[in-house]
Amino acid sequence: MSETFSVIARDGAARAGVLRTAHGEVPTPAFMPVGTKGTVKSVDPDELRALGAGIVLGNAYHLHFRPGEELIAELGGLHAFMGWDGPILTDSGGFQVFSLRDTLLEVDDDGVTFRSVYDGAPERFTPELAARVQERLGSDVAMCLDICLPAGADRSELEEAVRRTTLWAQQQRDLPRAPGQLRFAITQGGLDGELRRRSSEELVALGFDGYAIGGLSVGEHREPMFDATTEAAAFLPEEKPRYFMGIGDPEGVLEVISRGVDMFDCVLPTRTARTGSALTREGRLNLRNARFARDERPLEEGCPCPACTRFSRAYVRHLVNQQEILGLRLLSLHNLRFLLDLVAAARRAIERGEFLSWKEEALEGAKGAM
Ligand SMILES: [Zn+2]
Repeated sequence: MSETFSVIARDGAARAGVLRTAHGEVPTPAFMPVGTKGTVKSVDPDELRALGAGIVLGNAYHLHFRPGEELIAELGGLHAFMGWDGPILTDSGGFQVFSLRDTLLEVDDDGVTFRSVYDGAPERFTPELAARVQERLGSDVAMCLDICLPAGADRSELEEAVRRTTLWAQQQRDLPRAPGQLRFAITQGGLDGELRRRSSEELVALGFDGYAIGGLSVGEHREPMFDATTEAAAFLPEEKPRYFMGIGDPEGVLEVISRGVDMFDCVLPTRTARTGSALTREGRLNLRNARFARDERPLEEGCPCPACTRFSRAYVRHLVNQQEILGLRLLSLHNLRFLLDLVAAARRAIERGEFLSWKEEALEGAKGAM
């Protein structure tokens, strides 16, 4: 069998590669649209494919509670259930548990107890459950349960999170997987270089198919976050894919690619759509603004998405103002296309060996799109 991941071009620390999964190959760098509850909000799988998405993300926390992994398994697994036959990465649910901090009840060496956001009932996630849920969902990449702390956590908390994240990864590593399922571990340590090194070394020693950089993009300032990314990526093996969890603004995406990250996900394109805004090369357009009332131009000149090829800014503005579903859909399709195209262009620039100069140029316009 060929390698799970190959790097095919390098430019500085940036890399272009291929991730091979049970449901096909994913060219990297890859942006993963987020289908939290088994759907990328308002976008169907054929549209996702046409937009250029190579892999989507599903959320173990939400799918575990509604409709439940056993029901999804009974109906043929997550691919069949959501009608997407391409690669799927599922997160472990840990991020939701730890980011919904007022629902946390107790963390110990075997797992975490919390109140479900659905009905407030006490629930428990363990490495065994994280493995089981993702095995039943049948995703192509499964994530380890980890402890993600918010920005500003003190060193002793970070140290304990690193210790338990390693312990849990060790417990989860050899549990049953779906056929061909890859398993990624998640490094923690916040902005603390020494703890990030410890976390990375411990997890790499255990041996996983890929490694995520977790616990960043959790509310800290951008510059220290990017510095920590440079450091965190360098602690990870060259020959394995690196996944930065939770970044999706144009600048952030290009900055993490330039630091050697291969995969990332974010709800930003669809969340931005829900606020009535479009991502463009010149920055973010708030379609509610009255200046678009008679604007006959597309959201972005030359964009091949379904919104830009047929509709004017004036029409999208009208839809947004009237809270028409089509407005939300058109903005979601456009924003996803914008980000997927940006990442595809980054990949081509890496292959040409022109990534840095291309990135500077791309960011000139995109600064306002943050
Ligand atoms: Zn468009």
